[in-house]
Amino acid sequence: MATIDITNLRKEFGDGNERIVAVEDFDLTIQDGEFLVFVGPSGCGKTTTLRCIAGLEDVTEGTIEFDGEDVTDRRARDRDVAMVFQNYALYPHMTVRKNIGFPLRLSTKKSTDEIDDEVEAIASMLGIETLLDQKPRELSGGQQQRVALGRAIIRDPQLFLMDEPLSNLDAKLRSTMRTELQELQTELGVTTAYVTHDQTEAMAMGDRIAVMNDGELQQVGTASEVYRAPENEFVAGFIGSPSINLLTADVDGATLRGPGGFAYEMEDPSLVEGHDRIRVGVRPEDLELDPDGGMPSEVTVVEEMGNENFLYAVMGDIDITARIESVIHPEAGKTVTFGFDEEDLYLFDAETTEAVK
Ligand code: ATP
Repeated sequence: MATIDITNLRKEFGDGNERIVAVEDFDLTIQDGEFLVFVGPSGCGKTTTLRCIAGLEDVTEGTIEFDGEDVTDRRARDRDVAMVFQNYALYPHMTVRKNIGFPLRLSTKKSTDEIDDEVEAIASMLGIETLLDQKPRELSGGQQQRVALGRAIIRDPQLFLMDEPLSNLDAKLRSTMRTELQELQTELGVTTAYVTHDQTEAMAMGDRIAVMNDGELQQVGTASEVYRAPENEFVAGFIGSPSINLLTADVDGATLRGPGGFAYEMEDPSLVEGHDRIRVGVRPEDLELDPDGGMPSEVTVVEEMGNENFLYAVMGDIDITARIESVIHPEAGKTVTFGFDEEDLYLFDAETTEAVK
């Protein structure tokens, strides 16, 4: 187990005019035993960051330390990390037993019997003890992923690095495996960095979540911190499903005015003081139908979810999504007015997109 310190990481690909900055200004400490999830849209630099930690990419600038020891120039195989990939990367001609035992056969002087005992213990921990003599092609995706996990666990590394390990599984299995993986990580206590583009998965699994965009770390925090206290508009928009509603409002003293007749009188005008324009965010579940609310909207679609309804509407040229009680069921085409509590508003500077409260 290890504490991982990443300082001022920068990774560029290519050279001259063709240079791509994949990661920049990246500072992060992953605590000993922590399950940290990197999340962000495609191409934001998650995999590159993980590969730099693994030693599979040379860094352009910055340092990576494991427990205070600088490993920046250390080869991947000398870093004591185990990686699990989306495509499992199993050896097709080897049985499950051989696949799981492979790292030990390669790196230790343990006897075949000792290795076999360890393989069997891990296989039973993963619920695949009956599959030990099968080949990967005879297994389902979920079983193959368990074998890949087994092969990582048997190395007893100080760090697990996982790159979208569940994305080839169907939705139901993915959610079961999420829980299993979390339980396993807690049991083993191994520091883990996990990459996903799926914010729901990130929220469900991470002790903390590192939200990335465009090569830069946007915010690191627990699920509730990134959800309830996003530091900028990107994080507010990326975290949460359905997404937060966002609009630009002109600030006129205490009054906010936006598209489609949006008007709201701030109870605490000091929050928007000094801003001519402000980005206003409100989460779908924080909207309610309120004739005196400030958001007149035309309903376009109502989706019944059983326990609640998703209401899709337009306010001027802004799409609005609301989650409301299932007993409320306005018809498409009807005009409704949404309201909210001021404390549920997310306010961002219109220019910098940083949170102002
Ligand atoms: P995804 O979720 O799609 O895998 P990601 O967030 O993991 O995306 P990276 O794979 O880290 O993103 O890529 C970050 C940027 O670096 C992208 O613009 C990508 O095209 C570029 N990139 C990554 N690897 C290389 C490479 N070997 N050579 C050149 N450019 C690369």
